[in-house]
Amino acid sequence: MHHARNLSTADFQRLDADHHIHPFTDTKALNEEKSRVMAKADGVWLWDTDGNRYLDGMAGLWCTQIGHGRREVADAVHRQMLELEYYNTFFKTTHPPAAELSALLAELTPEGLNHVFFTNSGSEANDTVFRMVRYYWQLLDKPSKQIFIGRVHGYHGSTVAASALGGMAGMHNQAGMVPGVHHITPPHWFDFGGDMSPDEFGVWAAKELERTIDELGEDNVAAFIAEPVMGAGGVLIPPETYWPEIKRICAEREILLVADEVICGFGRTGKWFGSDTYDLKPDLMPIAKGLSSGYLPIGGVMVADRVADVIIGKGGEFYHGYTYSGHPAACAAALENLRIMREEKVVEHVADVAAPYLQEKWRKLGEHPLVGEARMIGLVGALELVPAKPSRAERFEPVGEVGTIARDFSFANGLVMRAVRDALIISPPLVITPEEIDEMARMIEKTLDDTMAELKKQGRMA
Ligand code: PMP
Repeated sequence: MHHARNLSTADFQRLDADHHIHPFTDTKALNEEKSRVMAKADGVWLWDTDGNRYLDGMAGLWCTQIGHGRREVADAVHRQMLELEYYNTFFKTTHPPAAELSALLAELTPEGLNHVFFTNSGSEANDTVFRMVRYYWQLLDKPSKQIFIGRVHGYHGSTVAASALGGMAGMHNQAGMVPGVHHITPPHWFDFGGDMSPDEFGVWAAKELERTIDELGEDNVAAFIAEPVMGAGGVLIPPETYWPEIKRICAEREILLVADEVICGFGRTGKWFGSDTYDLKPDLMPIAKGLSSGYLPIGGVMVADRVADVIIGKGGEFYHGYTYSGHPAACAAALENLRIMREEKVVEHVADVAAPYLQEKWRKLGEHPLVGEARMIGLVGALELVPAKPSRAERFEPVGEVGTIARDFSFANGLVMRAVRDALIISPPLVITPEEIDEMARMIEKTLDDTMAELKKQGRMA
């Protein structure tokens, strides 16, 4: 057997290249380049096996709200594992961490959401949504209501149902689509707004939901699913006018509203949930990521009373569940994470300190010649890279190449950012301090300068 401590970086890279197919990765291209081997993390910092240090500008994968390496979470999981490492929640059974976490989630989430169905991930949460929504309409004797409306660039996960609910064409093309899902225009003014003002466009994009319901027939539409702020699609922050208009449409039409809070939930937008930020009253609310700050895998679907009344009150047995639904150790990690978030006032830190401070840096970065739009809400933001300002019309070709160049410079400068098409994305741990934000902003500025120098060298920028 391999013993981790006796292996070198090159050994890990070889083992990985020989045997590991990576998620959302061109594995052949990666193997030619070699993996970075992350070894250790603390707070907002990561170290690879060669001792290089990175600021984790993505909070892992939009999840490490309280930062890395909190001993209290490890201790809570350790204690739970010694007590009851695993038992299921299927057969008329529960256990203390699942019961406590259910009640705590009912308290923390927006009013009217008082039940949770536990899963291990955001993808499973959205698969649960898919099945629960259709079952709900069946129970109400409206079995024709089956269609989901999602959005282009939406991301809801990688399982079969979740990838269909999402609006990623690449994913649909590789494995086919589930019938009964439609996608409408995302509220992303920069790319889709045309000649409209952002506010006009927000209303127009929302009204597409209404137009689509009419086209498909209200009797056939089950639900609208949307992230309050779209994350993996490129941090697409809707114009102010968007959600109020969506709320009006959902109130007038008989469809369920599913707010996918897998990224927005647990403080990312400066309030506990994106639904708090936009005053939404979702019928179903998938959660994951920040629920445990990623210390162990856990997700769930929050269910509004009006849906729970039907599913629980009329439904009998719901034929759905995962071996690890409400896993005790994962629930213990979530409970400790949420205790830390509340006692250390992490959401208040975002709203009052970190987000305003980073917002100011963002405004300045927006003045860089390479940046066409600098958008941010709470602690999640994007810099849209363009060849010439102030035009929105002119973009780099082929889409995504410049984003990748910039992303690689970012890593070389010691900062983890992600590129989505030609936008650079950040979503740092929520506990990031002003000093760390200063450091991050300096690295971003250097990354933009390095990228621009490279593009000028390649003749792609004047
Ligand atoms: N929904 C949203 C909004 C997400 O951002 C993600 C993951 N990035 C998912 C669902 C899927 O979650 P998971 O990767 O935990 O399955």
